[in-house]
This record gives sequence, C-alpha cells and structure tokens, in this order.
Amino acid sequence: MSLIVQKYGGSSVADAESIKRVAKRIVDTRSAGNDVVVAVSAMGDTTDDLIDLAHSVAERPDAREFDMLVTTGERVSMALLAMAIKDLGFDARSYTGSQAGMITDSKHGDARIVDVTPVRVREALDQGAIAIVAGFQGFNRDSRDITTLGRGGSDTTAVALAAALDADVCEIYSDVDGVFTADPRIVPLAHKLDHITSEEMLELAANGAKVLHIRAVEYARRQGVTLHVRSSFSDLPGTIVYNPERAEEFEVEEPMIAGVAHDLTQAKITVSGVPDVPGKAAQIFAIVAEQGANIDMIVQNVSGRGTGITDISFTLPKAGAEKVKRALEEAKDEIGYEQLTFTEGIGKISLVGSGMRTNIGVSARLFEALRDAGINIDMISTSEIRISITVRAELVTEATRVIHSAFGLDADHEAVVYAGTGR
Ligand code: ADP
Ligand code: ASP
Ligand code: MG
Repeated sequence: MSLIVQKYGGSSVADAESIKRVAKRIVDTRSAGNDVVVAVSAMGDTTDDLIDLAHSVAERPDAREFDMLVTTGERVSMALLAMAIKDLGFDARSYTGSQAGMITDSKHGDARIVDVTPVRVREALDQGAIAIVAGFQGFNRDSRDITTLGRGGSDTTAVALAAALDADVCEIYSDVDGVFTADPRIVPLAHKLDHITSEEMLELAANGAKVLHIRAVEYARRQGVTLHVRSSFSDLPGTIVYNPERAEEFEVEEPMIAGVAHDLTQAKITVSGVPDVPGKAAQIFAIVAEQGANIDMIVQNVSGRGTGITDISFTLPKAGAEKVKRALEEAKDEIGYEQLTFTEGIGKISLVGSGMRTNIGVSARLFEALRDAGINIDMISTSEIRISITVRAELVTEATRVIHSAFGLDADHEAVVYAGTGR
C-alpha cells in the first residue's frame, strides 16, 4: 500500500461541482488501495477576495487578524471536500493546519514551517480514513496564534506533509498539465516539461512562475521529496520535479533551457546623484534592509568622468516599496543624493536552464532577439543558471514570447489552461 499526498489548488475546487469532481478523484486513488492525505487550497479566488475585504475595513490590517481571516478560506474548502467524500461512501476527516501539527515560526503572512507533527493525520489513516488538511496555514507555539505560509503556500503544506509522513508520492494538482516552458496564459505556445530539476524549478519559482510555491520547491529539495505537478482536469502525466542527484534514475537528457519566467510584482527605485565615495551603497541598503524589503536586482552606473557622482537602481517587491521610498526620501540629506525615482511599471523576465553553465552565447542570443523586436532592456542580472532582464511592464508579454521563440521552445500547438482566472 502506498501513501499518496495530493494537493488541490483553488481553481480545482472553485465551486461545488469542482469539489465533487475532486472528491471523486481522491476516492478513486483510495479505491486503488492507497492511503491518501490531501492538502487543499481555498475555493477559487477566495483568498484574494478576503484580502480585498481586509483592506476595505483597515488601511493596514493587523497581521494577526489578517491571518485569522485569510485562513478561513481553506477551512471552508477542507470541510466541503470531506463532506463530498463522505457522501461517496468513504471516510474522511478534515483538519486545520494547527490540528494537523503544522508548526511554524511567528512571522504572520510569511511563516516558515519549523516542525510537522501530524499525529491526528496518522490516526485518521490508521483508521482507514482519508485526511484532508487545510493548506497555507500553521500554528506558532509561542504566540499560540494561527499563521500563514505566504501566497501559494498550500503547495508547501503538501510537501511538508509528504516529508513528515514519508509519503511515496507528492502530487500537486493545478489548472494546467504541469510545469511549462513559460506561463501558458501569456505564452500560448509554451510546452509542458516531462521533467525539471529542482534547482531549475527553484529559479523559475523564485522569478515569478507561480505554478509552484518557492518554499515548497526548497522544502522538497531539502527533504528529498519528488514532486509530480499535474492537472486535476485531465489524466495526463504531468511534470516530475526531481533533485539533480537523482538524474540517472530518470534517464533524462537535460535541455539547455528549462523555461522563461515573468514577474510583474516588482518595482524599481533609482537613487541618482549619489556621491561616489566608499560607504554610500552600504548606507542606502542599510535603510532598505531596515524596512524589511527583499531587494532583487541592483545596478550601479560607473560615475561619469570627473563628476564624482553615480546612480544606483534596484528592484524590490511592490508590496512595501512605498515604505522604502519614504525612508530613503527622509534620509536624502544624510545620504546626499540628488534625486529619487520610483517606477512601478516594470516587469522582469528570466531565462532559466542548467545548460547555461556550459553554453556560451546565451546572453547574446537573448539580447539579439529583443533587439530584433525593438524591445529596450532596462536592467540585467545573471546567476549561474539564469539571466534576468527588466523591461517596461507593458512589454512583458511580447518580450517573454520573443525570448521563448528565440530559444526554440515554441510548441506546434497551443497549451491548454483548464480553469482559473490567473489572479
Ligand atoms: P493553484 O491554484 O492550483 O495553486 P496557481 O494559480 O497557483 O494554481 O498556479 C497555476 C498557474 O501558474 C497556471 O494557471 C499558470 O497560469 C501559472 N504559471 C506560471 N508559470 C507557469 C509555468 N512555467 N508552467 C505552468 N504554469 C505556470
Ligand atoms: N489560498 C492561498 C492563496 O491563494 C494558498 C494557496 O492557494 O496555495 O495564496
Ligand atoms: Mg498555487
């Protein structure tokens, strides 16, 4: 008998009909002789709606109450799913994150799992029941409060359960057939990957491919959990996300490029006319760090001959960017810069592939493709297996398609997106 952990995302349980359909899938897995543990997300766009609601009553909603509110979404779907399964004649029990032993640190809105003690989940399995666990939520022992794992965090719930229960398989069910070479909502000719290494998946997830929560990929990598990302709307095999050390097992010949990710959640700040003397960057980024901002790309211009001043630009998540802007404006005299520019309309595109380590000319090909399309590159950054650029936000779709094509990733037919609003 195998133990299978399945995670169903919001678009897979968007309404009563979908919940019944998913219940049927779960029951089929159980009937095939497996133990089944399910992590479930809130129905459809419930989490977004709850967040909007919070902001309609408070300008800056209290972090503890915010988590109390948004975790209700998963509480609704887990109970409905358990009911639907019971209605099919199978035993099922739903558990909140805290009941399932999902212990986290105390960081509301972005908590990290520190321990998983799924005693009640085990008990349910031992008694032949299907366990349904609310995704995205946990519990902090010190504050005794409910926490959330960050947007998209139900994936991480599933991986943490799979690791703690030593599951045979961790399946992530979504509204697309797996991990594609780009988001099929913006690149219709993206193609599904049969396999991808966890390090490439980490880069894609970190750079905007929301098909998997980055923490879920990190956790799976650390704990050696192999993921199977697939659609709850079809029976097609999906994408296996595996640790590179296991490459031989999968007998995969890795393509040079795994895919292209895009990200519209970043803003850019440029501090111009900064005195070109030691310590200025340290001063600026200390202020940025005090605001808790997670900076991404940094570009410093070479100061013009004899001017003695330079410009520093960096990108950071839009959420919280205003705060950083205000803090830097307050420190204008102290830093001694001339001007601060804040741009929200930027988009980042990242090309990811472990083959970049050994292939030269990847950047040249990318830049030429954008040149031919008349698209201006704003910032550039690279890592061992990734090249990222920023362009004006309104050019992101076209630029992503152009890059996808230039690296020969286009399929000969359009990808299917089964559901969801892409929100
Ligand atoms: P769920 O609600 O099931 O968690 P998400 O909306 O979080 O689903 O993630 C699935 C979505 O991720 C897809 O509908 C797709 O638009 C988007 N996506 C972005 N990049 C990729 C990619 N490389 N491959 C597949 N889907 C992607
Ligand atoms: N419902 C949560 C969200 O929308 C968690 C998840 O779907 O993974 O972010
Ligand atoms: Mg998701």
